[in-house]
Amino acid sequence: MPTIGVLALQGDVREHVRMLQEAGATAHAVRRPAELDAVDALVIPGGESTTMWKLAETFDMLQPLRMRVKEGMPAYGSCAGMIMLADRIEDGIAGQQTIGGIDMVVRRNAFGRQVDSFESDLDFAGGRVHAVFIRAPWVESLGADVEVLGRCEPGDRIVAVRQGPLLATSFHPELTGDARVHRYFVDMVREL
Ligand code: GLN
Repeated sequence: MPTIGVLALQGDVREHVRMLQEAGATAHAVRRPAELDAVDALVIPGGESTTMWKLAETFDMLQPLRMRVKEGMPAYGSCAGMIMLADRIEDGIAGQQTIGGIDMVVRRNAFGRQVDSFESDLDFAGGRVHAVFIRAPWVESLGADVEVLGRCEPGDRIVAVRQGPLLATSFHPELTGDARVHRYFVDMVREL
C-alpha cells in the first residue's frame, strides 16, 4: 500500500487524506522536509497559490519539493496545487514561484472571481465526474509530453492533465464524495 502525503501548508488537507484512504492508500499530512522524505507520493491541495508558495519558502519546503518532483516522485495538484505544479503561470503576483514539473502554462483565476465558482459534469480519463471549480485556473497551453485528461465548458478549456508521474486538475474532487480521481492517482503511484 503506497504512503501518500498531503502538503499541509494551507488548504483542504483533511478531505484529501480521507479520499486517499478511501482509494486504498495510507495518507497523512506533510509539513516538513523530513515528512516529505517519508512519503512515496504527494497531493498538493487547493487553497491559494501565492500563500502556498510563501509558506513553502517560510517552512524551507520549496527546494525539497522541487527536488522530489525532479527525482520523479508522483504528485497530484488540485486547483492551487495545479498552479504549483505548472512550469509557467499567467496572472500570478510579482515574483510568484511554483514547484513546477508539468510543461504547461496555467492561468490563475481564469474562470473569474470567487462569485464565478461553479460545478459541472465532465469526462475525466474516460469516466463522467462531477467537478467543483472554486476560483479555478485553466491550462492555457501545454507541451507535447502533456496528456489532456479532461476539458470543461465554457470554452472547452483544459482542466485535467497528466505528464508522467504528475497529475493536475483545476477542480476539487475531494469535495464531491467521489474518490475516482484519487483512485486514478493511487493507481498511478502503484504502477510507477
Ligand atoms: N485562485 C487560487 C489561486 O490562485 C486557487 C483557488 C483554489 O485552489 N480553489 O491560487
